[in-house]
Amino acid sequence: MPELSLSEILELDRRHVWHPYGPMPGQREPLVVESASGVRLKLADGSGELVDGMSSWWSAIHGYNHPVLNEAAREQLARMSHVMFGGLTHEPAVRLAKLLVDMSPEGLEHVFLADSGSVSVEVAIKMCLQYWRSLGRPEKRRLLTWRGGYHGDTWHPMSVCDPEGGMHDLWAGALPRQVFADAPPAGYEEAYAGHLREMVERHAGELAAVIVEPVVQGAGGMRFHSPAYLRVLREVCDAHDVLLVFDEIATGFGRTGALFAAEHAAVAPDVMCVGKALTGGYMTMAATLCTERVAEGISRGEVPVLAHGPTFMGNPLAAAVACASIELLLGQDWAAEVKRIEAGLRDGLAEAAGLPGVRDVRVLGAIGVVQLDHEVDMAAATRAAVAEGVWLRPFRDLIYTMPPYVTADDDVARIARAVCAAARVG
Ligand SMILES: *Cc1c(COP(=O)(O)O)cnc(C)c1O
Repeated sequence: MPELSLSEILELDRRHVWHPYGPMPGQREPLVVESASGVRLKLADGSGELVDGMSSWWSAIHGYNHPVLNEAAREQLARMSHVMFGGLTHEPAVRLAKLLVDMSPEGLEHVFLADSGSVSVEVAIKMCLQYWRSLGRPEKRRLLTWRGGYHGDTWHPMSVCDPEGGMHDLWAGALPRQVFADAPPAGYEEAYAGHLREMVERHAGELAAVIVEPVVQGAGGMRFHSPAYLRVLREVCDAHDVLLVFDEIATGFGRTGALFAAEHAAVAPDVMCVGKALTGGYMTMAATLCTERVAEGISRGEVPVLAHGPTFMGNPLAAAVACASIELLLGQDWAAEVKRIEAGLRDGLAEAAGLPGVRDVRVLGAIGVVQLDHEVDMAAATRAAVAEGVWLRPFRDLIYTMPPYVTADDDVARIARAVCAAARVG
């Protein structure tokens, strides 16, 4: 039995616990989750279950309390839950690295196991800056990205988030100043491709890398863009000695209909970040992959090592579950499941397009987005979704969903109904 009553949990939570992007003390009352199984979250207030339309922020692709992932965790727990990674290694981490190298775009050969998505982006940036330093070009230390992106909440990732959504005004003068191109349009436009080429050319002398989320910009605005822009970036980066980083933390592991979004463009980056769904949503782990060229460049430097080593690097428990999650994914026709959810979302969200206050409805892979023409009333939209038996977490002008791949057709339909209900009142 839990030691705290429901009212004690809520009161202590409000008084002591920070929530994401939250004030202190808390102002909105969160829902208390007692347990989760399949695609359902069981609430502690006895009101029943909610179908999870968020996959716990892109991560729980196989649903909750999955017998295969549970067994992987249990087996590893009985061996060891953690040992340091300095001077020691172990089978789960090595097996995971091999799986990632084998499944990721061509040329990515080396794996740094980080402890969260933001840290994997920090490591990616460190790799790129150190590469140019090692080659005697320390002036190449800025990053170029496009507006509307999101790369995490630690310091350097924050500097490449969308300047408005990322609260750059708050940090003016404190954050490193990066180079921003315009946000990518949805369809391919030659003028925008020219803008990207021009920006990279103009700043090449000071750029270590271009960093972008391929095909889908997530928390920066849930925008989709033509994969052809990734080819433009690859060409112009190659032509002007700039590294290319793809942040696949949200898009990786099948979410967009390709195993990695880069595959839509048949382009491989020099450095790639993965996270979120890496462990099937069981615990925190991320990874930064790089090419032979990047690793070899770093190794040629005055300091020939990558100076990064989190305490919980390569955590065996997380690595064992990540291996099980990847094997579970690759062992099924995941692409068919994502297509099935895509079709269900297209069907179910079609009616949202006709609602007053709705600016755009878009679906790609297992991602559905309704964009309003105004800031969403988060409390009202959340209430409307919960009344339909669905958990959603709207933000800014967006009501969106990325369900677990195991979500059955009737639950996909229910999620779509909840998105529409939220859009009506939000
Ligand atoms: C979530 C996210 C991150 C940050 O990952 P955390 O695990 O929250 O630190 C970075 N980049 C992208 C694209 C993300 O979606």
